[in-house]
Amino acid sequence: MATIGFIGLGNMGGPMAINLLKAGHEVNAFDLSQAALDTVAAEGGHAAASAVEAATGADFIVSMLPAGVHVEGLYQTGAAPLFDVISKDALIIDSSTIDAATAQRVSAAANERGLSFIDAPVSGGVGGAVAGTLAFMVGATEAQFAKAKPILDCMGKNIFHAGQSGAGQIAKACNNMLLSILMAGTSEALNMGMKNGLDPAVLSEIMKQSSGNNWALQVYNPVPDVMAGVPSSNGYQGGFQVDLMFKDLGLAMELSQQSNSPVPMGSAARSLFSLHKSKGNGGLDFSSVIKLYQDS
Ligand code: NAD
Repeated sequence: MATIGFIGLGNMGGPMAINLLKAGHEVNAFDLSQAALDTVAAEGGHAAASAVEAATGADFIVSMLPAGVHVEGLYQTGAAPLFDVISKDALIIDSSTIDAATAQRVSAAANERGLSFIDAPVSGGVGGAVAGTLAFMVGATEAQFAKAKPILDCMGKNIFHAGQSGAGQIAKACNNMLLSILMAGTSEALNMGMKNGLDPAVLSEIMKQSSGNNWALQVYNPVPDVMAGVPSSNGYQGGFQVDLMFKDLGLAMELSQQSNSPVPMGSAARSLFSLHKSKGNGGLDFSSVIKLYQDS
């Protein structure tokens, strides 16, 4: 069993750290929030007094932080950079969703110091983090991926080697941009059908069995009460927040600009989610974007 330093115990990181504990690993945890730290300590984690304490002597360091600036600060540019204390034999796994350029920069800086840093963002939301069924998209060398896999297996179900450093973040940006387009398009079609007198449950079933079939229709219908157990049937509470989708679409737009990749559908979806967020819906599940159509 390994000793794992886990930094960032929020909605995602907390349950991920608990799954590592359940698998028998020793977890030295740290978060700026005492409440988040207490939750993991109550499950058997060691509450470290600082990120440096959590990372010192660890075989693996896992981070789950809000954005690139937090990741770069933690490891490299902050007041107490973890690169100064992490062992050369350790593997750093950053599962935060951040821009690929920062992931590649931090990884290169790690390499220069003889350290090993990989990007491994996730899909599957808080439900997947709790259930241990996340999908991991990993940017790493073959050897780094092989070393990370048994640890990622404790927190996820589908572990993909996307490519070299940064590839995990690129895959994540592509996936979430597509997801936003699918949800907006599904909402658009369902709203038009409803405005023309169709029952959304009947229309959903027709499109699901036809060429419009997609993930939103299959498991995440945006119209309330068409499907049980989804955020739309629960006042758009829980699930994946509009704020987070907006953040991810920002990362996708950066990537498109850097790589000169045209993303007209992605930028249209970003405008829709931006408008939806500006109307005070940032805390709702992203399938609530259908309200934009219904309200207009
Ligand atoms: P969150 O805000 O709930 O958790 C972030 C945690 O990081 C907080 O507890 C905060 O106190 C802590 N933190 C920030 N800076 C720190 C530092 N320097 N040292 C220690 N702790 C620090 O966010 P979350 O929902 O858990 O998301 C984490 C990451 O996962 C984000 O990059 C997000 O985009 C990504 N993600 C989230 C979801 C989701 O559904 N919530 C799904 C997939 C990916």
